[in-house]
Amino acid sequence: MEAWRRKAAVLEKLAALLEDVGKARRDHHARRPPRPCGITVHTGVGCPLACAYCYIYDMGFPGSVKPYPLTPLEMAYAIAANPHVAVGELGTLVAVGSVTEPFLPETRELALGYIAAFVEHLGNPVQVATKYPPPPELAKYRADVLISVTDVEGRLEPKAPKPVERIRGAGELVKRGGSATLFVRPVVPGVTDRGLERLLALAWDAGIRRVVFGTLRATPAIAARLRSFGVDITPYVRRLEEGRQIPIRYPKGRLAEAARRWGFEVLPASCASNVLAHGQKCALCSWGPCGGVLEVDVEDVRDFLEHRGYRGADPHFDGRRVAVKVKLRREDKIFLEQALRVPVVSQGKARHQS
Ligand code: SF4
Ligand code: SF4
Repeated sequence: MEAWRRKAAVLEKLAALLEDVGKARRDHHARRPPRPCGITVHTGVGCPLACAYCYIYDMGFPGSVKPYPLTPLEMAYAIAANPHVAVGELGTLVAVGSVTEPFLPETRELALGYIAAFVEHLGNPVQVATKYPPPPELAKYRADVLISVTDVEGRLEPKAPKPVERIRGAGELVKRGGSATLFVRPVVPGVTDRGLERLLALAWDAGIRRVVFGTLRATPAIAARLRSFGVDITPYVRRLEEGRQIPIRYPKGRLAEAARRWGFEVLPASCASNVLAHGQKCALCSWGPCGGVLEVDVEDVRDFLEHRGYRGADPHFDGRRVAVKVKLRREDKIFLEQALRVPVVSQGKARHQS
């Protein structure tokens, strides 16, 4: 399969540039399956910004940041080595800045280095989410930048630059030909809706034309922190559980309607923004298709399955998903879905041979 051969070739090239690939191979970026938004890349460990709704502290991350211990080349290698990840222009979506703020002074250069290495060595569509004014260099990497906000004042993000600064920075990026999307996440009841028109006006004037509204996920600790900011989420949730992030079902329709009235394209998820910013297609989940459905070369899929030891898989594409007659190992199923951007389902009871 073309995507499989490309992955092997990129890994070989990167291995030749690195003295030792052991550290990258042992890193969790080389193992973790992609999430729906793609493979998330950590630029640092911890975050000092202490946003009221942040879940990373519940996950055990510290309130200070240390740059992630892989160099840009090592991170590119780790991503390429991940058996679930498809490498290349139409490969796995890469989402930089999960569980920290990538453009903190301590990690800014590293984050830009990671993005540059992905663009140069992998070619995958890259997206970065930030609460900082995005560095102008991002325009040259064709990265989609999610300007993350919760409300127009930044009420729940007292240590981050103000939303107006983030959005003005995005405007500069758009002027340089970069791509920016307004990422209203999380939507916090009683906070996000206040001043929404002002927020949308700022984004529109900055040249932003896409918006994503994202759900708040709460734990008892997050609810308590929000309470200390004067925000009560109890009317929106039946019960909170220790150790579980519960989505807060706030009706987002009204926010989406307001955005549409301005002329924004309202997208179902951050990954859709990455796909559309790169002029691509994806139909991997039921929220799509986003941009359309990629053509599937069934012979190419058959070639991959045979190479991986499956016999009698008999792949079939019905225009929306690929069906195979064998049970696939999890990493092969995920790799195929990442390479094809459509769901892959097993039908029939035949077992693989290897
Ligand atoms: S910037 Fe992101 S990671 Fe940092 S505290 Fe805020 S939400 Fe959490
Ligand atoms: S179909 Fe759209 S929303 Fe679903 S994974 Fe693909 S880009 Fe994301």
